[in-house]
Amino acid sequence: MLIYDQKLKIFYSNKINDSRYFAGFGTRSLGDARKIANIFNFFSKTNTSYKTLVLPEQIHSTNIALLKEKITETFKKIEEVDGLITVESKMILTVKTADCLQIIFADKKKGIIGISHQGWRGSRKRMVENMVKKMIEVGSRKEDILIAFGPSIGSCCYDITKDRYYLFLEEFNGYSDKIFTWRSGKCYLNLPLLNYLLLVNFGIPKENIDFFPFCTKCDHKRFFSFRRERNNNKKYGEMLSFILKLD
Ligand SMILES: [Zn+2]
Repeated sequence: MLIYDQKLKIFYSNKINDSRYFAGFGTRSLGDARKIANIFNFFSKTNTSYKTLVLPEQIHSTNIALLKEKITETFKKIEEVDGLITVESKMILTVKTADCLQIIFADKKKGIIGISHQGWRGSRKRMVENMVKKMIEVGSRKEDILIAFGPSIGSCCYDITKDRYYLFLEEFNGYSDKIFTWRSGKCYLNLPLLNYLLLVNFGIPKENIDFFPFCTKCDHKRFFSFRRERNNNKKYGEMLSFILKLD
């Protein structure tokens, strides 16, 4: 289940968070996550002990960095990736989004954590499957991987062009009755549902997945939205998502 923490102003999954794992999806109350000071400020308020904050470049790829070595910097940007995986403790893995989907992964049996960013490009290239495959490479079993979806644009608001519709139809024809809806001649894509179906079909048990019910574009009080605010620099921002092992 996803729960809202009034004090920290984040949503978190009670499947993942416990005394050893701290993960969450920030709201716009934390400020624009593109400003690193806002991220440091959030973690100082939570009294979290950590060594490194890791930020992927986010280029709409399916590239994943497996962070094995201890990184000594307090802040590290990883070029050309959209996913991060580690077994290290006190390493905060992050992504930032405003409408794109962010997903948090945790295998508590093996102590492996991960986070990924996927918009329509990453979803079409099956980024979620790549994340699971990478976790299996380092020792996870599908049945032990817990997964939480963060806030993204919903099928209520995500209309796509005909060209994009055909791109998705070509790749995911078997899901077309579930992921597309048509209203007034426009096609709407359900990006979180597509990613959920990919995970379930790949063998992740349904009960391991926490699915986020809110739309970033509809809920302007809590979320930044690229589609809603792209033409308004004052309002536009991105939201932080993160996971770390505390010990
Ligand atoms: Zn909506």
